[in-house]
Amino acid sequence: MARSIGRRAIVVGAGIGGLAAAKALASSFETVTVLERDALPSAPIARSGTPQARQIHVLLRGGLDALGELFPDFETELERAGAVRVRVGSQSLLELPGFDPFPRRDLGFDYLSMTRPLLEFTARRAVQRQSNIVLDQHCRVTRFLEAPGKDAVAGVRYERGNASHELAADLVVDASSRGALTLDFLDRVGLPKPEETDIGIDLRYATATFEIPPGDPPDWRAVLHRPSVDNCRGGLLVPVEKNCWQVNLTALHGEPVPESVAEFVAFAKTLRRQTIHDAIAGARPVGPIYRFAFPRSLRRHFAALERFPDRLLPLGDAICRFNPAFGQGMSVAAQEAVALRRLVEARTSNADPLSGIARPFFAAVQDFLAAPWATAEGDFVYEKTRGLRPNDFKERQSFNSALLRLAAEDAAVHRMMSEVTHLARPSSALHDPEIIDRVTAQSCKTDRQSPTAFGAAGK
Ligand SMILES: Cc1cc2nc3c(=O)[nH]c(=O)nc-3n(C[C@H](O)[C@H](O)[C@H](O)COP(=O)(O)OP(=O)(O)OC[C@H]3O[C@@H](n4cnc5c(N)ncnc54)[C@H](O)[C@@H]3O)c2cc1C
Repeated sequence: MARSIGRRAIVVGAGIGGLAAAKALASSFETVTVLERDALPSAPIARSGTPQARQIHVLLRGGLDALGELFPDFETELERAGAVRVRVGSQSLLELPGFDPFPRRDLGFDYLSMTRPLLEFTARRAVQRQSNIVLDQHCRVTRFLEAPGKDAVAGVRYERGNASHELAADLVVDASSRGALTLDFLDRVGLPKPEETDIGIDLRYATATFEIPPGDPPDWRAVLHRPSVDNCRGGLLVPVEKNCWQVNLTALHGEPVPESVAEFVAFAKTLRRQTIHDAIAGARPVGPIYRFAFPRSLRRHFAALERFPDRLLPLGDAICRFNPAFGQGMSVAAQEAVALRRLVEARTSNADPLSGIARPFFAAVQDFLAAPWATAEGDFVYEKTRGLRPNDFKERQSFNSALLRLAAEDAAVHRMMSEVTHLARPSSALHDPEIIDRVTAQSCKTDRQSPTAFGAAGK
């Protein structure tokens, strides 16, 4: 155990970011208290505080690695609980405009596929085993408390039932997803809020579950069908626990998604390829169809703020949320938690380890956000996407298109691209001079843009 640098850290929210952050801090604080507004179920079932959890939630390889760093034996526990291993490249079928499908080959790594409630439940159990983490449910945090001088957070006020309580802390992590408490605190102490960049996509989601039919299994385990500029509908099919497929169908720019199973199957038939449709057409649905609307990707530029209160750190969706079709949010939150642990442990011998911690934390987070945010910016390929298109967008798209063509031909480039997409390798790997030369040569042959190159192999 690292030297304790404080008596109590409070984490607001027991979602993926909050659980990961609590574990990240546990070795540096005497107590970590997680305050969650919901009742936390004692089984892997969805709860109201994370309404998105009924939708497919893919955990990328980079996210699994990050959670594995925080929770020893995490992969084993997930598999024991029913998560399904999928070999990237050979067992996952990628249908991408211009490559229907993308060449299949073993890329040397795999990921685990499961429902979000199972993932969260497994992480929650691991947190509950940590003796100095207190997981307090039914606690809605209403306010961060100011330290004298207003330059730091001193704790939180929260409600449990009809009673209001205050709890002091040396550090508060805002993993409440919306980040409203952090913004409210900045307002109250007279500090500017971070600028926001958004990418308006008005994504509609529908997720259904089907029993995997008995008989000849298909020669894939998962199918990702990415939209094209002409048909903004996409789909994803993944195996989950209890011998089921979870399937989502998506539409951009406000186009409605299906409400009934019959509509769901009919919608699947409108995709460029029929793989998902043919799989589910005869399969038995389990439970209802769940829909979700996601208006925009959003990034808050905390790193650019000149001043930020001490002893407060937002994390996860409170900093940045991405088009969920790329499956990045949980992985980024987990990677941020790992960065938090490294940072806190590296400052243990400082005289005041928590003073000024926000700046290096936000700088570390910037590194994790660059690649997934660039993927989210791929949505600017659609004319109806709202927001400020990056100046170099055209160049980036043509680089990505050429890279995809190269990856289709070359297994090593395919592997590298998929590792980057899985957030398991930094995107700088793709800017190696040799790769750039080959991509440049390839781009001379490339004319058609592919909408979302980096997201392509994502799920
Ligand atoms: C439709 C959809 C599909 C998605 N699919 C994927 C995917 O495939 N892969 C992926 O990686 N990501 C996906 N995401 C993103 C993912 O859900 C988030 O990025 C991730 O959950 C962020 O974690 P978080 O801890 O920041 O927030 P959350 O996991 O949302 O947790 C926030 C927690 O804070 C609690 N809370 C909020 N306010 C308070 C308060 N005042 N007091 C106490 N508790 C509070 C909430 O109840 C909740 O438990 C998807 C998102 C959506 C919308």
